[in-house]
Amino acid sequence: MTKYVIIGGSAGGIGAVEAIREVDPMGELIVISYEQVPQYSRPMISEYVSKEATLDTMKYRSDQFWKNKNVKLLTGRAATKIDFDKKQVELDGKQRIDYDKLLIATGGKPFVPKMEGADKTGIFTFTELSSAEGIEAKLETSKNAVVIGGGLIGVSASEALIKRKINVTLVELKDNILNLILDKTASELAEKVLTDDGVTIITGQSVQRILGRKDNQAAVGGVVMTDGTQIPCDLVVVAIGVIPRTELVKETPVKVNRGIVVDRLMRTSIPDVYACGDVAEAHDFLINQTRLLPLWPVAHLGGRVAGYNMAGKKTEYEGGTVMSSLKYFDLPVVTVGTVNPEDLDAYEILIELKPEKTVYKKILLKDNVIVGFIFLGAIENAGIFFRLLKNHVDVSEIKDRLLSEDFGIITMPEQLRQKMFVVN
Ligand SMILES: Cc1cc2nc3c(=O)[nH]c(=O)nc-3n(C[C@H](O)[C@H](O)[C@H](O)COP(=O)(O)OP(=O)(O)OC[C@H]3O[C@@H](n4cnc5c(N)ncnc54)[C@H](O)[C@@H]3O)c2cc1C
Repeated sequence: MTKYVIIGGSAGGIGAVEAIREVDPMGELIVISYEQVPQYSRPMISEYVSKEATLDTMKYRSDQFWKNKNVKLLTGRAATKIDFDKKQVELDGKQRIDYDKLLIATGGKPFVPKMEGADKTGIFTFTELSSAEGIEAKLETSKNAVVIGGGLIGVSASEALIKRKINVTLVELKDNILNLILDKTASELAEKVLTDDGVTIITGQSVQRILGRKDNQAAVGGVVMTDGTQIPCDLVVVAIGVIPRTELVKETPVKVNRGIVVDRLMRTSIPDVYACGDVAEAHDFLINQTRLLPLWPVAHLGGRVAGYNMAGKKTEYEGGTVMSSLKYFDLPVVTVGTVNPEDLDAYEILIELKPEKTVYKKILLKDNVIVGFIFLGAIENAGIFFRLLKNHVDVSEIKDRLLSEDFGIITMPEQLRQKMFVVN
């Protein structure tokens, strides 16, 4: 009987459990998780804080899931070391468990920069249920928050806090928010939507220091910006970014670049050891290289592929690419692939901009193939564009119609429709 051990029971771990059980209903399956309830949807943390979701409604799988899949779930436990020679995982620095096949699905951890005052109470990250619970407890006595970081997590934190009637100042070091997934035009439209909803946005600056309260220096009372401005607040959310949680393989023979490098079967450089999700660098079908892609569906799919291979059913990972679909502050946005290239001359760019309606569409083509797009405010047909991009379909014969109002699956030539749905 094969003994499977999975470290991390979130998107990636769950995908692997499901795949392993499809192939091997009998093998011993252990999932190790720091978090008491590992199976909640991390993207719904914002809704938990805004009170639009409860822990129950944000569960990605039910509590019975683990039992139904015959999993021994070890919650509140930490994998502290891996002995690849003996094929053992150390738990909480003491006990050891054996594995035949191991999956590392430890995800990412929030990056918190060293900053004077960072030890005060009232400072939170936004990547775990426990941080959301901490924020919830603090909200009763809070009026003003500073959110550091204008990426996806910072914007989602801002939305949740605004919905709880907290005054929010969002601080972004670069010139525009959401700059990793949008271009300048799209960012500016998004900034207007956030500002109209009450968020104060400060760009081109960072928080230099966190101040204490006059009556309690140990608690957050404000922040000092790089230009010296002081902003009073009772709550700080640090949302600068997430880095792969690779500590377990540090100084081991496992090949790590920015994340653990895996092949198309989700195997690491060590036999019988797999990795997936935010901790792993896996195949990107657009650039045909491995890269970090911290996205929920990518983690789940990578976990599934790892699970099949661990259980002996050879399965190749088709890969993911940079892709975001969001609706913060009621603004729908879909952005996929290359959207903000430096070598603009290498691309053909189609644009539709209706600022009065907060609508912006940008499509980037290289050699008549779509390599990226931003749809903001109007996201119909995003699925079609994704399929055209994914399958590298030559769109030269419909290029002049891609942004026309009647463009859709029905108006597309039959042979292009077929190419869209070929499974590579
Ligand atoms: C606020 C927020 C919003 C997001 N929104 C989106 C979105 O809209 N769309 C999208 O696609 N993605 C979104 N993401 C990203 C998405 O949540 C991640 O890509 C996904 O959760 C990655 O899954 P994973 O299984 O790799 O790791 P994680 O979900 O990070 O889970 C890893 C688990 O492993 C546990 N663990 C780690 N180390 C150990 C150890 N040594 N021992 C025991 N347990 C351990 C952790 O505690 C955790 O429970 C969002 C993330 C956040 C934080």
